[in-house]
Amino acid sequence: MQDGHPETTRSGAATGDVADVGADIVADIIVVGGGIVGRACALRLRQAGLGTILVDAPPALPHRFESASFGNAGHIATEQVRPLTSPALLRSLPRRLFLAGGALDVGWRYPAVWAPWAARALRACFAGQAGQRALSSLLADALPAWQRLAADLGAPGLVAADGHLMLWPEGSAGLAAAGAWRAADIGSARVTGIGDDERDRIAAHLSWRPATGLRFHHTGQLRDVAEALHRLEAAFLSAGGGIRRGRAVRVQPGGGSQSVVLEDGAELLARRVLIAPGVGARDLLRPLRVTMPLIAERGYHVEWDHGGGYDLPPLVFEDRALIVTRFGDRLRAASFVEFTSEAAPPDPRKWRRLEAHVGALGLPRASGFTRWVGARPTLPDYLPALGTLPGHPAILVACGHQHLGLTLAPRTAEIIAGLVANRGSPVDLAPFDPGRFWSWNTRR
Ligand SMILES: Cc1cc2nc3c(=O)[nH]c(=O)nc-3n(C[C@H](O)[C@H](O)[C@H](O)COP(=O)(O)OP(=O)(O)OC[C@H]3O[C@@H](n4cnc5c(N)ncnc54)[C@H](O)[C@@H]3O)c2cc1C
Repeated sequence: MQDGHPETTRSGAATGDVADVGADIVADIIVVGGGIVGRACALRLRQAGLGTILVDAPPALPHRFESASFGNAGHIATEQVRPLTSPALLRSLPRRLFLAGGALDVGWRYPAVWAPWAARALRACFAGQAGQRALSSLLADALPAWQRLAADLGAPGLVAADGHLMLWPEGSAGLAAAGAWRAADIGSARVTGIGDDERDRIAAHLSWRPATGLRFHHTGQLRDVAEALHRLEAAFLSAGGGIRRGRAVRVQPGGGSQSVVLEDGAELLARRVLIAPGVGARDLLRPLRVTMPLIAERGYHVEWDHGGGYDLPPLVFEDRALIVTRFGDRLRAASFVEFTSEAAPPDPRKWRRLEAHVGALGLPRASGFTRWVGARPTLPDYLPALGTLPGHPAILVACGHQHLGLTLAPRTAEIIAGLVANRGSPVDLAPFDPGRFWSWNTRR
């Protein structure tokens, strides 16, 4: 046993309610990765009647920060149907750079990590509207999927579906930006202006009064990201799932049984494997001759006590590339897209800049800051990889959810559970093909 959870190895019998479906097989399916995507998938698979084991590694050295699933902004961002790779992004690149005061940075010491990724992303900038259509199809049901999941977790109040606000200070830039949002494709979301009353309500929590503001509807927020993760794990265990703490180092396909080898030497067997460990999928897939060009697109947050009385939905300050979300007594300010190695040391200048934003905005603060950095798992076309691995029908993948992993986890889980149960997929999965970057298995 480890961490109070059932340990399941080749020699040991399956524990918990994990189905013992054969002499050596300890589960119907092993899910590798216990972030928000892996946990949601594990629960839905277990609820579909499959003996399921979740394998999750503790936060890795050298930094030991929790994964992005814990550190994100909690925004159910149904409006973000446009993949970030676009000609517009290229045009705005110079002013987005960190050294020019923007949020975008590159780990210059790691050119072997970001240069090949950037070359693919550049190509994706000119791929037309297909990515937007694909992302829209996933996002359309993302908020209802969260509501269904929260209800199943016995906590419907975890999901706030009252939208978010985007605010700008005095000046024509805000007017132009708000106009662009009003004209943009925002999928199933909707946008309206904000009136004087709402402006006053917001101004009571800031040191200034927003000159321009938009309210987004049909977007949402998780009221407590950590609680959602804990509830997912608890629901999975009480449904009879098994959890094994440890890092998977190899996934070995076989005929009827697939093997997952852990860092400590243990070997788990199952009829199928779902690879869902965020950026970690890249290294697990390489030996299977599938290229998964994931990069650690790192973001930073700072968090503090607001001191009571703060009741605003998520606030987006587009001119600062900043989102501020309330989680109970705490406020979290998140920003930055840093393309680098996941092992790179954190850049303290980014935390300092976040703290300066908090001060400049006049957000209420009744404590010091805690600091966090973590990696979004991002593919160059800003679409997740979902589905069966080319050449290996018993191995599935759910990774690459970029800025939208929190938003898309429940939808992803429903899709994956449907595939495994042979119910097909409600959305066309071709754009999310895990083999789309390169698979030796299908190109022989
Ligand atoms: C600053 C910031 C703000 C964000 N805000 C939002 C937001 O508001 N809304 C939104 O939708 N998304 C947001 N995101 C993105 C979101 O957090 C990610 O897309 C999401 O966390 C990805 O989830 P995941 O489960 O795929 O990966 P992760 O969160 O990275 O979790 C992966 C898990 O797998 C484990 N693991 C890794 N390798 C192995 C292995 N070999 N064996 C076993 N286990 C392994 C890890 O330890 C970890 O527990 C934000 C991200 C950042 C950085």
